[in-house]
Order: sequence, then C-alpha cells, then structure tokens
Amino acid sequence: MSTFDVVALRAFSDNYIWTIRDGGRAAVVDPGDARPVLDYLRREKLELVAILNTHHHADHVGGNAELLSHFKVPVYGPHDARIPEVSQRLADGERMTLTHFGVEFEVMEIPGHTRTHIAFYGAGMLFCGDTLFAAGCGRLFEGTPQQMHDSLSRLMRVPDSTRVYCGHEYTLSNIRFAKAADPGNAALDALETRAQKLRDQDLPTLPSDIGQERATNPFVRCAEPAVIASASQYVGKPLAGPVSVLAALREWKNNF
Ligand code: ZN
Ligand code: FE
Repeated sequence: MSTFDVVALRAFSDNYIWTIRDGGRAAVVDPGDARPVLDYLRREKLELVAILNTHHHADHVGGNAELLSHFKVPVYGPHDARIPEVSQRLADGERMTLTHFGVEFEVMEIPGHTRTHIAFYGAGMLFCGDTLFAAGCGRLFEGTPQQMHDSLSRLMRVPDSTRVYCGHEYTLSNIRFAKAADPGNAALDALETRAQKLRDQDLPTLPSDIGQERATNPFVRCAEPAVIASASQYVGKPLAGPVSVLAALREWKNNF
C-alpha cells in the first residue's frame, strides 16, 4: 500500500509533464524539457526513478537525455527508434510496474496522432499523451481517421471514473470547437464554465475523466445525431458512419 500524488509541471507554452510523486521519489511522463523537472526535483528534494514516454514528438521526449545524465533510470516507451533513450520498449497489453508507488500500468497502443503512440493505464489513471485531449483529440500526423476512431473507442471502454492526463492544455479552445460541432450539448456549457474558472486562476483544467469525455468530446461522439448533422453540414454532404464523421471533424477543427 503506497500513496502518491500526480502533479502537473508546465513546459513550453501549453505542455504538461505529469509527475507521479511521493515523499521522496518521482516518475515523469513525457518530459519534453528537462529544466522544469530538474527544478521541481531539486525544490522538493525528490529522486527521479522512472521516465515514461507516450510518443516520439520532441515536446514529449526532448528532456529524456538530460534527465538521464542526472539520474540512471529506466525509460518506458513504444517500439520506435525515434526515441533512442527508451530502455524498456512496451507493446500493446504489456504491463509495467512503478514499484516505488505500487502502481501497475497496462500499455495500450493507440495509433492516430502518431503511428506508435501508446497510453499507460492503471490505478484509475490514463496517461494518453496527444491522442485524447479534454473535449478534443490530437492531429492525425501519421495515422488515419479509422485508427484514431479505434484508439479513442478503446480508451472510452475504461471506467468513467478514470482520470485522463493529457499532454496539453487545449481545453478551452477544444470546447469552442466542440460547441460548434455538437450544438445544444449542455454538458459543454457547464464544462466551459468550470474550465474558464480554472484558467482564470492559472490552474490546469486537467485531469479530465472518461465520463466527462463521453459527455463532451465530439471526437468520441461521432455517432450522436447532432454531431453527424454538423459534420455533414461542414463537408456539404450526408456522412454515414463514425469514421467519416471523425475525419470531417478533424478536418474542420484543423481549419477552425
Ligand atoms: Zn505530439
Ligand atoms: Fe505534444
């Protein structure tokens, strides 16, 4: 039995480096920059014990090498040579344990944003990088709409109470788009009020949770009549099936 907290360290303009910590140790998820991590560890007198990477983008892995020069720790990540620092490569369904915190994660391969993107799921938490955001999803840099749809559907199968730790603070702009894509969804208005209040205090709007995403995220609501209708209107023809709706929403969001 062990207790831990999850803390958001900010990096760049809107990245979060999620940090699992107890009284003496810390593990970081997607350290795009080593500086905020090293500052935090020094200030809190913590020893780094592990690095987790969800995907190869520099704003998620750019701090790996410098952190490793200070702490000899395992780096958990996907099978992708574009993250050379990864020491423990993980495939779908494999498990890894952060023994210091008594947390076991299951790895889920969730392609879409990138080809090899993974999520870490366990202890009521989901670290999903740039695949699922609060009220949005990542851009399709390497994957197809079908892959993103399948990945998001898979994430929606974990319990509603699961806390969702995303890679970026995009919530308010995602909500603005979601209100256009899913007009009349009252849950979006309530979420916007909450999120705006947090941002006004310069606080993170994250973590979200799966229940909130089901209720507010248009990219996981591609079978809802209101979302089908607005996506169809955007492309100027009736869309059939959630994958074509997701493709239209993603295109629309890119130009929104
Ligand atoms: Zn990314
Ligand atoms: Fe990112």
